[in-house]
Amino acid sequence: MQATLSIDLGAICANWRALDALSGPQVETGAVVKADAYGLGAAKVAPALKAAGAKRFFVAQAEEAVALRAVLGPEAVIYNFSGLMPGDDEAVVEHGMVPVLNSAAQVKAFAGKFKGRPCGIQLDTGMNRLGMEALETASVGFDIAALQPDLVMSHLACADEPLHPMNATQLATFSAMSFAIPARQKSLGATGGVLLGAPFHFDLTRPGIGLYGGLPFKGAHPVVELALPLIQVRDVLPGEGVGYGATWVATRPSRIATVSGGYADGILRAAGGLSLYAGKTPCPVVGRISMDLITVDITDLPETPASLSLLNTVQTVDLLAEKAGTIGYEILTSLGGRYQRRYLGE
Ligand SMILES: *Cc1c(COP(=O)(O)O)cnc(C)c1O
Repeated sequence: MQATLSIDLGAICANWRALDALSGPQVETGAVVKADAYGLGAAKVAPALKAAGAKRFFVAQAEEAVALRAVLGPEAVIYNFSGLMPGDDEAVVEHGMVPVLNSAAQVKAFAGKFKGRPCGIQLDTGMNRLGMEALETASVGFDIAALQPDLVMSHLACADEPLHPMNATQLATFSAMSFAIPARQKSLGATGGVLLGAPFHFDLTRPGIGLYGGLPFKGAHPVVELALPLIQVRDVLPGEGVGYGATWVATRPSRIATVSGGYADGILRAAGGLSLYAGKTPCPVVGRISMDLITVDITDLPETPASLSLLNTVQTVDLLAEKAGTIGYEILTSLGGRYQRRYLGE
């Protein structure tokens, strides 16, 4: 029996509206739905966001753009952060993908084949990951002007740390570099940039994680719940071990529940000090997390529940991330394919 992952589309839309309300009425709010909407299912999430008012969507690969077009219809604008790579022409021509060109070579290739079609330009303002620096931009300045890009954008490296000096440096660099580019819209901020305030908003913001209930958007509505069904319950005597390596040994007569779910489902084995919840009552995970199974001490529960919850309003994605030594983004995108996915608020 599979565990149940509940995904609240209403909460995702409420988060989009809340982030949209943090910028002025002249600022458009897009939606980043790369990596299958951070693991939550772009085919469900993107149409819900479109119905809530989002018009511009962002993915990371042409294949994602093609899949997204099929569910969003012809009107939505679908930007691809990785630009135009070999093999991507069909995505542009047949599926209306708008590449965010991020090197002189990509600009040249696009200008040679697709002049007249919409494109974006990505500038590197200090992150050194994607985009063109000033000299490279200047080397294709003529081509960029001729393309009349829809969008010029860059990405902040440290937006989740509001006091980090790189934020102001990148803002100044972006303002200076984008000044020379005749694009219809400018965009700098993702979720963290929305929260940094008006100077970072420009014409279009690009939130991702905040839509899905994660930090740095502290005010986010929780989006996911994960309930793992009990397969069996056993009585364990003091001195008996539980799980691989017998790393946990009972010190009292214990009731141990074995639930369906493990590291093959994105429940990271490295996570320590985890609890599963029966309602609001935490029950400690005992022994190692294995591929398909987790063992939980339910001795103190008055009744045996049908399932225990791993993600909920108490143990959020970010709390789980902290216990696993990672970030909410990785918890979400690790959620595996073996869950029964239930969409709320469709
Ligand atoms: C992933 C990504 C975003 C969204 O970032 P969040 O922190 O999830 O809001 C925006 N822009 C770019 C270029 C990205 O790669």
